[in-house]
Amino acid sequence: MEIVVEGKGPMEVESGVTGRQLLDKISGRRDHFAISVDGQLVDWDAPLMKPCSINVLGFESEVGREVYWHSTSHVMAAAVKRLFPECKLGIGPAISEGFYYDFHRSTPFSENELESIEATINQIISSDLPFTREVLTKDEAVKLFENLAEPYKVELIQEIKEGEISIYRSGEFVDLCRGPHLPSTGSIGVVKLLSVAGAYWRGLESMPMLQRIYGISFPQEKELEDFLERLKEAERRDHRKLGVVLDLFSFQEAAGAGLAFWHPKGAMIRNVIEEFWKREHLKRGYQLVSTPHIARAELWERSGHLEFYKENMYTFEIDEQPYVLKPMNCPGHILIYKSKRRSYRELPIRYAELATVYRREKSGVLHGMFRVRGITQDDAHIFCARDQVDREIDGVIDLALFMLKSFGFEKYKIQLSVRDLAHKANYAGDDAMWEEAEAALKRALERRNLPFVRAEGEAVFYGPKIDMSLVDALGRAWQGPTIQFDFNLPARFSVEYVGPDGKEHEVVMVHRTVLGSLERFTASLIEHYAGEFPLWLAPVQVVVASISSENLEWAHAVAEELRQSSIRVDGDFRDETIGSKIRDAELQKVPYVLVIGKRESARREVSVRSKKKGQLGAQTVDAFKKNVLDEIERRL
Ligand SMILES: [Zn+2]
Ligand SMILES: [Zn+2]
Repeated sequence: MEIVVEGKGPMEVESGVTGRQLLDKISGRRDHFAISVDGQLVDWDAPLMKPCSINVLGFESEVGREVYWHSTSHVMAAAVKRLFPECKLGIGPAISEGFYYDFHRSTPFSENELESIEATINQIISSDLPFTREVLTKDEAVKLFENLAEPYKVELIQEIKEGEISIYRSGEFVDLCRGPHLPSTGSIGVVKLLSVAGAYWRGLESMPMLQRIYGISFPQEKELEDFLERLKEAERRDHRKLGVVLDLFSFQEAAGAGLAFWHPKGAMIRNVIEEFWKREHLKRGYQLVSTPHIARAELWERSGHLEFYKENMYTFEIDEQPYVLKPMNCPGHILIYKSKRRSYRELPIRYAELATVYRREKSGVLHGMFRVRGITQDDAHIFCARDQVDREIDGVIDLALFMLKSFGFEKYKIQLSVRDLAHKANYAGDDAMWEEAEAALKRALERRNLPFVRAEGEAVFYGPKIDMSLVDALGRAWQGPTIQFDFNLPARFSVEYVGPDGKEHEVVMVHRTVLGSLERFTASLIEHYAGEFPLWLAPVQVVVASISSENLEWAHAVAEELRQSSIRVDGDFRDETIGSKIRDAELQKVPYVLVIGKRESARREVSVRSKKKGQLGAQTVDAFKKNVLDEIERRL
């Protein structure tokens, strides 16, 4: 029969041949990490029974990397079991960069132990053991892992519905796994174990604490070196670390995990973002609203959240009535819209709110300000008629791009998420609505020549959306703006307007955010700028530092004058040397330091030191003020 190999053309093979048997023929290079048949990833030992097209995936493909890293996690687990047979296996997935595996063990792994695990991994790689798949019934699988004394695996198998269960072997190591994997352990180049952290089984605090080992692997040594270099830079920029050093925010054990406390300087940055956000929204015809944090459960029943989103919601009771702590703002905005009858003349209506919502995130996924339980969304909902959709989408994209650019993000990635056409029944709304909405989103992107990836099956059930990620100084992408159609809520709440024909029509509803959340956005700003904020965002813009107590009067007067012009100024009037005052301001990444000594006091001037440009010499307060206000105005 004939198969077509991507990049190689057609090839005559016997029916029943496997990818593994074809390896040498279909891939001359060694970068064959996964094989897909007619677009489906398959195991290397799966027999090819009919003509098909084959694609061999290497490290350059996301799927290839995932298989590569996930397979390395098997090898790491095999090494751990060889060295520490008493460890119990948890799970070992690939992550966005690298992999981890969780082990139950009474003590954490030491630095030395990680080194010996690495050495054993390298032995297993040299042995070039094939990854082979076996299929068992549920009972057989339970027995196998009971005999291996792997209680966590047994727990996972018991949750699987009846049917085939696949396991993978590589040498003496066996793991419950869906696969697929690399052809053999020898496909792995270099491995580095990166860190160990405690992680609750299934991310639940009520479950046992496991030891999670993180690692990474690459085909080439050079790639590993580059990665480690980037990792060092990422650590330098880590917002959790800078958050402490710059005294921006904290998380408090006494309050609970995933709840951010914004300290004065962090709150100042947040306030600058909020003020800018509000001003730009008002300019664009949005109206600011404010809605309660709790509401009756019935509201969330009507919206469908209690049915589809319950595991993410905090519920409680007031006077024996069920209530919900809001996970979203949409039903609230709908209630305001529906507080009176709406005419087509009022549309579009755009309600915006900077609102903190609460979502039940597992403790294991919480990550500094990037993933929290109290999230402040920069939310808005647009209610419009069908013929207004294009203009509205245009407006949102303009605003989103303007926002990203204003905050210094010049690059972004865009995904157009649409439904899975093979399972149309799983989605709210009819074909025409989906097609119309998708076309509107696409037109808006194309009009601006914005490159995007169309992702089938990535839409949520109630409508297509555009997802934009902002790309930071290290090239990392963070989730940012989204523009989301909703074919569900308008129908559930009968959100309507009276048309020129005098009849009720359903509105088109669009949810959108242009920053994502204030927590995540602030964290990405911190990492993007490595804490060195541009002047307009810096929580402290100017430090006034006195050389000695004799200059205090003028120093105070300068600070006061700048403060009166809304410049964010701190006075450093301590009994320290001017050198150490300048050093402290530098560590706090303050853009300007004004040195006030005898000469400055006498001449009623200030000596200006810029973090970016160094010494700028003596200036009058007026001249300095004018420059600074101008820089702030231009968002430098
Ligand atoms: Zn696996
Ligand atoms: Zn919404």
